[in-house]
Amino acid sequence: MILRIIKHGEKILRTVCDPVDYAAVRKELPRILRDMFATMYSVRGVGLASPQIGLNLRLSVIDVRPEGKARRLVLINPVIVASSGELEEEEGCLSVPGIYARIHRHAKVTIRALDARGRPYEMTGEGMLARAFQHEVDHLDGKLFIDRLDFITRLKVMSAIKEVRKNWT
Ligand SMILES: [Zn+2]
Repeated sequence: MILRIIKHGEKILRTVCDPVDYAAVRKELPRILRDMFATMYSVRGVGLASPQIGLNLRLSVIDVRPEGKARRLVLINPVIVASSGELEEEEGCLSVPGIYARIHRHAKVTIRALDARGRPYEMTGEGMLARAFQHEVDHLDGKLFIDRLDFITRLKVMSAIKEVRKNWT
């Protein structure tokens, strides 16, 4: 099922999400993940965090389509365990549609998380995947990419949001 994506201004996006108790959500998880991927793909997103569909859980999905092919990643209780380098690229967010801004991120990031079956894994991503890891972990901490802008740019972006939010659904 394709779900409505929560937009900037709605409270749950500012919530520090609760850790997932894997055993408690195991039965519901396949449906939640199916809906999250379907919702993300329906708007050509590369990542979606559970608060963006109204769930207070440390759970995100990512697919940056390396080499143009689908590669579904499930991040349950993700933690960034190493990061290095710097990059600054244009970033957007499904919860702030129509707004893009250049954001400083680490260029290489290692996360530790559980996969869809509850098995721990570690993965290192560079470039776009590194950016997605950081963007998604931020969501689970109640942060949006626009929080990372300098004050002046942020003011400009906030006034742009006032304009575009009329078109948000
Ligand atoms: Zn986002």
